[in-house]
Amino acid sequence: MPATPDAVGWRFDNTYARLPDVLFAPATPVAVAAPRVVILNHRLADELGLNLRAMTPERSAAVFAGQDLPPGTQPIAQAYAGHQYGGFTMLGDGRAILLGEHRTPSGELFDLQFKGSGPTRFSRNGDGRAAVGPMLREYVISEAMAALGIPTTRSLAVVRTGERVFRMLPQPGAVLTRVAASHLRVGTFQYAAALQDGTTLRTLADYAIARHYRELADAPAKYHAFFRAVQDGQAALVAKWMLFGFIHGVMNTDNVAISGETIDYGPCAFMNAYDPATVFSSIDRGGRYAYGNQPGITQWNLARFAESLLPLIDPDEETAVKLATDTLNEFPAVYERYWLAGMRRKLGLDTDEAGDRELVQGLLDWMQATKADFTNTFRDLTSELLLAGERYQDETFRAWHARWQERLRREGRPVAAVYEQMKAVNPAVIPRNHRVEEALKAAEERDDLTPLHDLLAALASPFEATPERAKYTVPPADETGYRTFCGT
Ligand code: AMP
Ligand code: MG
Repeated sequence: MPATPDAVGWRFDNTYARLPDVLFAPATPVAVAAPRVVILNHRLADELGLNLRAMTPERSAAVFAGQDLPPGTQPIAQAYAGHQYGGFTMLGDGRAILLGEHRTPSGELFDLQFKGSGPTRFSRNGDGRAAVGPMLREYVISEAMAALGIPTTRSLAVVRTGERVFRMLPQPGAVLTRVAASHLRVGTFQYAAALQDGTTLRTLADYAIARHYRELADAPAKYHAFFRAVQDGQAALVAKWMLFGFIHGVMNTDNVAISGETIDYGPCAFMNAYDPATVFSSIDRGGRYAYGNQPGITQWNLARFAESLLPLIDPDEETAVKLATDTLNEFPAVYERYWLAGMRRKLGLDTDEAGDRELVQGLLDWMQATKADFTNTFRDLTSELLLAGERYQDETFRAWHARWQERLRREGRPVAAVYEQMKAVNPAVIPRNHRVEEALKAAEERDDLTPLHDLLAALASPFEATPERAKYTVPPADETGYRTFCGT
């Protein structure tokens, strides 16, 4: 039974901890020296039915540093495996602890997880800790993603631990509280499949279906349908990443959520100048997870998911492989549908025409050739003054623009209305790398939270362009050599 809500409104119902115990290990957050709140997400708390204002700042710090656990929690570290850069490894939560699942007043279930709260059974050689910079980075980017309408885990709190963690240099330690539809990953299924115990695998799949795809519970061939539903969710998700220029950076199978949410914000970043080969992650030397590779890698990751589900899809292996492969082969078309529908919206098109794919490609090619900013180009298209702009004088662009205008005329809506519609899907503000770095640096080094709060305020309504926000719309002057890190 869920615990009765106290003044904050916690209602934990720890369903994961009732699964077969090979799937997790009990875990306890370590004691830390001097917990102190950096940021609390009151807006998210409200959505979850949690009143964090019922706690003093000291109590909040203790709670979100794992020193004073909310009632009804049952902390565990989840076991999982994963293909990291193509190689299979047994992993697990090495620096994360699941407190349990909180049930909101409307009945939805969300994981509450600490990241950086000390070692677990799965820590291997790691210290289980996290530094304040990367935890704030996850907070900023995940909240930006949510405001853009991209399915994502959320960030409820970041607290400093008052201790130092040792990376390349000593850094201030911190704990992030992450909220997720669940932390079930492709890697969780790979782990269960590696156990070669059919019961655990089936129990896990039934659990995932009950949590995320309830409509399939009584479907015929339900595990095959489950695979297809996850594939559909991934196609929809990655199409959104592509439409907003988001580069995840570390699309290992342990970082692919069954729920269809974006998870694990390490070396991720938004692209500025359009180039499919864009990579920011310092460790992605081969460009495996480059912007333009994301749909293909998603299909590769889904193939690993399908492999782990084979015994459930059909008792006859050959039949199972055939069924799974046929579905997997549908991925490119499913992805393309989501992507093209999104691109049509970005260009203000309401109808489908055969030449639309080419129209979109024409713009992308021009952007690549001229190193145009991906986000700003789409936004600029909504300006009546576009063609007066210095950047839009070249002939290729003008020819493309004429073709697009002609296409719009065939739809017959007034351009002003079309442009308004476009502004609602083409953001003015994205988390520009230099602005994110600047805000994190101020918070980390000077304990100055003003740039962080200003940035978060702009990111919270990304489709609004106001003069005060102009600085958040300017791409970095020179980004050669900008690198992101896993933060581990
Ligand atoms: P990630 O690259 O963040 O997806 O992490 C890959 C794996 O490394 C996961 O199993 C993490 O739990 C683990 N890991 C990352 N950082 C640490 C750390 N500081 N201590 C222990 N395990 C870690
Ligand atoms: Mg991970």
